[in-house]
Amino acid sequence: MIRTLQDRGIHLGIDVHMEHTIVQLIQDGERVVGAFGYDRERGHFRLFKAKAIVLATGGIGRAYKITSNSWEYTGDGQALAYNAGADLIDMEYVQFHPTGMVWPPSVRGILVTEGVRGEGGVLRNSDKKRFMFDDIPDLYKTQTADNEEEGWRYTQGDKEARRPPELLTRDHVARCIVREIKEGRGSPHGGVFLDIAWIQQRLPKGEEHIKRKLPSM
Ligand SMILES: Cc1cc2nc3c(=O)[nH]c(=O)nc-3n(C[C@H](O)[C@H](O)[C@H](O)COP(=O)(O)OP(=O)(O)OC[C@H]3O[C@@H](n4cnc5c(N)ncnc54)[C@H](O)[C@@H]3O)c2cc1C
Repeated sequence: MIRTLQDRGIHLGIDVHMEHTIVQLIQDGERVVGAFGYDRERGHFRLFKAKAIVLATGGIGRAYKITSNSWEYTGDGQALAYNAGADLIDMEYVQFHPTGMVWPPSVRGILVTEGVRGEGGVLRNSDKKRFMFDDIPDLYKTQTADNEEEGWRYTQGDKEARRPPELLTRDHVARCIVREIKEGRGSPHGGVFLDIAWIQQRLPKGEEHIKRKLPSM
């Protein structure tokens, strides 16, 4: 059996395994001169010397209980920078995708595409009320449908119609959903309801239409 130097845990300058997780920046005084991490596949530790380092480790989605982010979005880059003495600003600026699965547990966190709302899906609370018409920001009033009929026509491609409030900006839709949940009108599993089945009242072949347009949903 041929054993390479790497199999024996000895590292040369060149490494075929490029996937490393960095856990600390190395400093010489205030200057960052390298990084320390481990090989994700094999667990070997590795020290990188560097003249400059770019941090691009993505977001902090894993700070939230329900998220579509993978396991690695734990704000590593922000923590590495902070521990090396950097000031962090605007940390509250996190974009939320308004719709994702909360139930059943096997699909918890899976993203539900905006396309569901684009095809006429509406958000309802536990009273079955379509709550997005309750709070349309002044800035968007002229561009947003003020009745269900117009909203429906928009989803069916009517260029004269304005978009339904479910298609307002992500931050606003997400906040409205959180409001309903916090005020006790959420679903039994801590979300709200995204109802696309109702379009069968409008389209005779509604079920077929949903399956064709939103196959993965
Ligand atoms: C389910 C889902 C659907 C999306 N759909 C869309 C879409 O349709 N359109 C759109 O524009 N955007 C979409 N986004 C958002 C988009 O994916 C992100 O905004 C974008 O990827 C962010 O890019 P980034 O380079 O900042 O970070 P990322 O692409 O997240 O890359 C970060 C990298 O850093 C690495 N990393 C993390 N920690 C460490 C560490 N300690 N050491 C070493 N490496 C580390 C990770 O392995 C990863 O490779 C979606 C996101 C999700 C989760």
